[in-house]
Amino acid sequence: MESSLVKDNPLLLPLNKEKTIYDGFITVQERDFRLRILLPPDGQVKRARLHCCWQLKHLLHGYEHIVKQRLQQSADLVSFILELKTVLEVGLKSRRECRSIPPPQYYSQLISEMETLGWGKLLFIDAEFRTLRLKAEDSSGRQHTLTVKLKSKHPAEAPECSADLPLPLAITWTPQSTLDQLHSQFLLLLESLTEFWDVLDEMDSQTWILEPEKPSRSDTMRRIAIGNNTSIKVEVDPRHPKMLPECCLLGAEHAVTPLRNKLNANMHLWNPDSSVLHNLRDVLEIEFPSPATHEKSSFSVECGICYSYRLEAAIPDQVCNDPRCGQPFHQACLYEWLRALPSSRQSFNIVFGECPYCSKPITVRMAAQKS
Ligand SMILES: [Zn+2]
Ligand SMILES: [Zn+2]
Repeated sequence: MESSLVKDNPLLLPLNKEKTIYDGFITVQERDFRLRILLPPDGQVKRARLHCCWQLKHLLHGYEHIVKQRLQQSADLVSFILELKTVLEVGLKSRRECRSIPPPQYYSQLISEMETLGWGKLLFIDAEFRTLRLKAEDSSGRQHTLTVKLKSKHPAEAPECSADLPLPLAITWTPQSTLDQLHSQFLLLLESLTEFWDVLDEMDSQTWILEPEKPSRSDTMRRIAIGNNTSIKVEVDPRHPKMLPECCLLGAEHAVTPLRNKLNANMHLWNPDSSVLHNLRDVLEIEFPSPATHEKSSFSVECGICYSYRLEAAIPDQVCNDPRCGQPFHQACLYEWLRALPSSRQSFNIVFGECPYCSKPITVRMAAQKS
């Protein structure tokens, strides 16, 4: 055993007569790592203990279970050392790939590009100088952030960009492109969306938005409170924000039906030169309750079953159709409640039962499966 060990790894030698302590170096890709192996008195590799230098420990981090497994399976010390070398080669290779330090010109290029763009536009840069956050202001004074992840071959390779937008961020990049040009493209895209954000900002400031709770710049949907557990869900098209949006009225039938009739009868009055909120007022012939006139608590009525407003992301959107009751429920709560009652009956995915509050007939669809 000794002779072959010396042949394959001349730097690892026994320190004692019993040959239970081996000390020396293991060479992987022209790098030497100090290593000591302690064998039990019977010389079984299975129960050997490794003492590694810190560089080796660092390199083996994450591969400890493999090393342990190889130790168990190796017939002798020689085959274990060979296995260990393979593991180390894999470790060295993957570490080099994930680090991939950019060449020096990467940094000088980055600095000169930032100088052209203006350092004032830099909100953040990470310790590796790879991820940048740039600020941009649109012509309406809204602040936006463009996140740029530079490749180590920048500018030969296009960076990864992301921003809070309702449309995909399509960027044209050539090996001659710069951060300044990237920023200009982003500004142009922001300008094409100002009308969309104007429409949504008007709704957000002048009505009570029930959903989403905290709209982001990419959110195209708003659920606007109308009153009496009635609301309208509108889906604004970012490319055509002033066109008649997709609308969905939510609430008890007696409250929703007249509104739906108005919407159908007055749809032709929709004026694309006017804002969506103004058009909705004209078409539905209503005034939306606004933060100036109403408290939000008058619309965020809790569910009559679980007594809370939010259930995960859902808000109570099922309403008892009896005009004197009008109690709202979460769809999931009402479905579970009705299904548990022997008096309810189910047909396909709809459950027919009685309102837990007024005992008038009520129906609910099976709650959508959580994805
Ligand atoms: Zn509930
Ligand atoms: Zn009821």
